[in-house]
Amino acid sequence: MSDGSTDRLKGVRRRIDEAAGRSGRSGGEVTLVAVSKTFAADEIVPVIAAGQREFGENRVQEAQAKWPRLKAGQAGIVLHLIGPLQSNKAADAVALFDVIETVDRPKIARAIASEMRAQDRSVKLFVQVNTGEETQKAGVLPGELAELLQVCRHELGLSIAGLMCIPPVDEEPAVHFALLSKLASEHEVAELSMGMSGDYETAVEFGATSVRVGSAIFGARS
Ligand SMILES: *Cc1c(COP(=O)(O)O)cnc(C)c1O
Repeated sequence: MSDGSTDRLKGVRRRIDEAAGRSGRSGGEVTLVAVSKTFAADEIVPVIAAGQREFGENRVQEAQAKWPRLKAGQAGIVLHLIGPLQSNKAADAVALFDVIETVDRPKIARAIASEMRAQDRSVKLFVQVNTGEETQKAGVLPGELAELLQVCRHELGLSIAGLMCIPPVDEEPAVHFALLSKLASEHEVAELSMGMSGDYETAVEFGATSVRVGSAIFGARS
């Protein structure tokens, strides 16, 4: 099983490089975030040993249970929070994660800003955009992005590194990747976190600077 994941990791990395090449970029410009949610520490260890350094988790508590030990003695691990964040978990999230990809409302931006000051810690931030305007999905609506960025940048002094999206399951992801890319350039945001196991190559072709890939590396989640 562990051999499987390291082979799959290599395959994903190679397909990212090829997709980048097709759009005139270098694979080195695209960060692979290995999404380890639901997988146990002993399934993650071989992937770290294979050289993978950026990992994504969607729940603060699950990450707290696994990552402090996984990180110990490993240089350069970068942990991304890719799931929704509640303000009462902001302190824990700022303490554990290096990147929070799911800033989507002023309240959570304020909680993160105040925790970064309190802990004297800087976390890289992405704003999640609900490009499909789905009622059940997290993320700021495209029409409200300008206002949220204004609050983050001018009221809270937060720098926003990138935008993130999760396209609706039943729609052509390329449309959403194109929209996220357009929003990023309109709002002068440099990075784009988009693409998962089923569509990361398309995302790279549409300009993703990071892709979040889980099952294509770790196998199916139960
Ligand atoms: C689970 C998850 C992923 C990875 O999904 P796969 O289809 O397993 O690659 C990516 N992004 C987010 C936000 C997720 O929750």
